Amino acid sequence: MDFDNENRIVSPDLNEIDNDIEVSLRPKTFNDYIGQEKAKENLKIYIDAARSRGDVLDHVLLYGPPGLGKTTLAGIIANEMDVQIRVTSGPAIEKQGDLAALLTNLNDGDVLFIDEIHRLHRSVEEVLYPAMEDNALDIIIGKGPSARSIRLDLPRFTLVGATTRAGQLSAPLRDRFGVIARLEMYTPEQLSEIVKRSAGILGIAIDEDGALEIASRSRGTPRIANRLLKRARDFAEVMGNGTITVETAQIALNRMEIDELGLDLIDRLMLTSMIKNYNGGPVGLETIAATIGEEAVTIEDVYEPYLMQIGFISKTPRGRIVTPLAYEHLGIPFNNNNNNNNQSFNGQQKLDL
Ligand code: ADP
Repeated sequence: MDFDNENRIVSPDLNEIDNDIEVSLRPKTFNDYIGQEKAKENLKIYIDAARSRGDVLDHVLLYGPPGLGKTTLAGIIANEMDVQIRVTSGPAIEKQGDLAALLTNLNDGDVLFIDEIHRLHRSVEEVLYPAMEDNALDIIIGKGPSARSIRLDLPRFTLVGATTRAGQLSAPLRDRFGVIARLEMYTPEQLSEIVKRSAGILGIAIDEDGALEIASRSRGTPRIANRLLKRARDFAEVMGNGTITVETAQIALNRMEIDELGLDLIDRLMLTSMIKNYNGGPVGLETIAATIGEEAVTIEDVYEPYLMQIGFISKTPRGRIVTPLAYEHLGIPFNNNNNNNNQSFNGQQKLDL
């Protein structure tokens, strides 16, 4: 079976449905940025301190699953610091020279945002170290024994790095960030606020229960909430009086085969094939990937975080297991004896068998 994650309605990755609305919906200030209180409070303090000293903000690393607001937060940081932001991504910077050009073109105090920073080439990453630490660029001139290195001064800048996987960042790079903030999945109440704010901007009529219905099926992710809102509007216009109510939201979401927890066909296929083919696990990531025809990284970054968050999958030293909660949701009887999937699973004991 071949699924296209880009066109999956509950994919947290950016796709063409979002392109036209993403920019207009992006909050520009901390006040409009809903939730993430811990990250927000800390950043506000660092920004106030840097501003009152007339200093640039320390380098910031934001990490968490896609669609939770990392790019948005980087824009807010630049806005609150009253500086420009330059946006790029790890894979887009191919050579050392690309990064050198970006750095030398910054204005004093600017924010350089590097998305997917864990995918920077190692050689490019090395250019970042002196830039982050000493605002300097080391350039090698000449080749062989006559080669020499000269050091150029760079403008002061704040690097904001975003990653879905902080664990993949090299230690020297991670250590150079003064501020590290982890973004959490949003509660349905927070997402409902986001949905109502977005509806206001887009001129969509929605009531409280309609907003909460969309919010609770959005996998803790604002990008998905905004996308489902847009789809639900189409249903409300065709089937109702244009206002999104709980009924129209439910019809729209059911038509998209998104269940009340926000799981779609692929999530359900992944869970049921782990149950049917591997007795609920433990099963390795690569095996799951092969079974459902997805890449292992996609499963790790996109599907798993939410399934783990709601307690449907857990990780053990021997692989992933499906929890009794997921069996219950899928309406499949959970049988403790015919799988290794009990909650008191003890890796050591199993290995001793
Ligand atoms: P990421 O960079 O983590 O993939 P983005 O910053 O691109 O995520 O966020 C995706 C969309 O979700 C944005 O366009 C924005 O409209 C919305 N969004 C994200 N976080 C928030 C938030 N805290 N409050 C309101 N809207 C948000």
